[in-house]
Amino acid sequence: MKRSRLRQRRPGLGPTALPGDPIERLLRPLRGLARGSEELYEKTIAQFSREGMRFEIPRFTLLGPPGGGDPLRIGVFAAIHGDEPEGAMALVDFVRQLAADPEPARGYHIQAYPVCNPSGFVDGTRHSRAGLDLNREFWRGSREPEVSALEGELRSRRFHGIVSLHSDDTADGVYAFARGATITEGLVRPVLAAASRHLPLADGPIIDGFEADRGVLRDCYQGILTNPDELHPAPFEIIFETPQRAPRDLQVAATTAALFSVLDEYRGFMATGDNI
Ligand SMILES: [Zn+2]
Repeated sequence: MKRSRLRQRRPGLGPTALPGDPIERLLRPLRGLARGSEELYEKTIAQFSREGMRFEIPRFTLLGPPGGGDPLRIGVFAAIHGDEPEGAMALVDFVRQLAADPEPARGYHIQAYPVCNPSGFVDGTRHSRAGLDLNREFWRGSREPEVSALEGELRSRRFHGIVSLHSDDTADGVYAFARGATITEGLVRPVLAAASRHLPLADGPIIDGFEADRGVLRDCYQGILTNPDELHPAPFEIIFETPQRAPRDLQVAATTAALFSVLDEYRGFMATGDNI
């Protein structure tokens, strides 16, 4: 949807105010489920205005059934690049499936942030309406409202692990950046294997300009959405990418499979005490 048209049609109105809003349309199934549920609820973590339009960053919390110990806290972030709706759709699907059958979330508290860059999402642009790639702004004293709200979540929630969802229009398959805790690499292989039942694994020694080993990358850009350095032990961090030129339903299926695999694999790591 183009910005000029939006501006003309709904000056001064918040994105949740009109039925044609893409964020409202995306989130409607979750909002329906959250109503009347004690295990799934929504909170707005940021509200801000850009050029007369009001935007919000929603967070959905899903409380899995008790697992015996302290809950494992997982954060999943999508659409920090506004023109990558595939991750947002997959995250909505993931939470919706868990709300219907919470067993795979046993022992977990999941915080889902399906639209981290709402103005870019509405405009269909990578950058926010302030003209910034928000995924280069983290932990650098940014005053962008999206970045400070998400930094606040990352600091206060003290996640055991986070997953960021992206789609890459130059990739020929699924791949992932593995960062943070040393267990991340052990986690990421089966996660990619689960995703590759839907889409091929990205091949080649260089992906997105970085050295890759069978679809796993270790180096990445500065300023990305990541945990603060002060967390010890370091949480696991997976940045999961789908090939954006592939059919959208396959990207959604691959991403959803990856997220279910994260829950499965990380529980396994915690149970065997491999969490070093
Ligand atoms: Zn991206």
